[in-house]
Amino acid sequence: MIRLTGLTKRFPGRTVAANAVDGIDLEIAEGKLVTLLGPSGCGKTTTLRLIAGLERADAGAIELDGKVVSDPRNGVFAGAHRRPIGIVFQSYAIWPHMSVVQNVMFPLRVNKPRVRAAAARKKALDALDLVGLADFAERPAPALSGGQQQRVALARALVREPKVLLLDEPLSNLDAGLRDRMRDEIRAVQQRLGITTVFVTHDQDEALAVSDDVVVMNSGSIVERGRPQEIYTRPQQEFTARFLGVSNTLTGVVTEVSDAGVCVQVGPGRLVCRAGSGLSAGDTVSVFMRPESFGFSRKQHDAEAWKGTVEFSIYHGDCWDYYVRLGDDVLKVRVYKEKVGLAHGDPIFLQPEPEDAIVLPAH
Ligand code: ATP
Repeated sequence: MIRLTGLTKRFPGRTVAANAVDGIDLEIAEGKLVTLLGPSGCGKTTTLRLIAGLERADAGAIELDGKVVSDPRNGVFAGAHRRPIGIVFQSYAIWPHMSVVQNVMFPLRVNKPRVRAAAARKKALDALDLVGLADFAERPAPALSGGQQQRVALARALVREPKVLLLDEPLSNLDAGLRDRMRDEIRAVQQRLGITTVFVTHDQDEALAVSDDVVVMNSGSIVERGRPQEIYTRPQQEFTARFLGVSNTLTGVVTEVSDAGVCVQVGPGRLVCRAGSGLSAGDTVSVFMRPESFGFSRKQHDAEAWKGTVEFSIYHGDCWDYYVRLGDDVLKVRVYKEKVGLAHGDPIFLQPEPEDAIVLPAH
């Protein structure tokens, strides 16, 4: 449904050397929700705006639903209103002088082919029903809460039955509880309609929760793409591992590679991990471990356990984070059972979960 080939965008006068979008290739199949995830300034929004026709690319082609809508080589450029898209921005961009239903009808009344008022109203009410706001149709738009206004924006983006839905950080202006609810509602509506969707976010939890595929971006390029579980548990790039909140990094050396896995010697001890691709004995590697990837005990049950001492602890309600010193390394370890009364200086033993370790060649 969406195909980007060598998509490139430069902004004049930008001090950063790289292009804002630097030769991106991306395909998105019909009905899928794909997130563009990455840090501020990595080019997510620009990519979305290029797909929408709100920016012109300097190079590369954009195809939507089998039609080329942008290709500077051939002078092809279809503006936003001529592309089969609906778009929702972070700021809801709701018109305050109109009622809710008038807001949603608006695209049908101004764009060609123009829909007659009664039919437009009917379609707008259907779209409002889809986002659970049928009862609010006649209210003045500003009388709605932030979450409701964002749902109006979603209904307005969907009212022309676009082939592609583009969402630019649609949840950022909402408070935490509402954000989770809206996130799940957006996913539900997207799946119900089977509409191909590009969702821009810098929030990894959001990306993991809503996506069929996550595309991780950095400096105008795609770092990697994968299903949420793949990208979370088996990132292929160090950038992805760090961006997805792997807070413990250890440097190690591969001592043995066998069918059983890769044996790595790190500061605190030994670790046998699932076989990584292309590693051999003697390689220096970075080992990434999540805080929840450790067994934790006060007594040494296992000769291979890593011995450390507690530096300090932080209480989160449902869990504790312990910062544990092991020689030169300090690891963050998350424990979900009740606190066992550990204090600064107490010895503890960690059993790393080898299945959860991510081993990548060190740079
Ligand atoms: P954020 O999460 O902060 O919105 P982003 O990943 O969406 O970031 P973009 O907004 O796409 O990033 O910006 C990519 C780069 O292009 C940034 O360095 C930004 O400063 C630059 N940029 C974006 N729009 C313009 C513009 N209109 N003129 C000049 N530079 C721009």
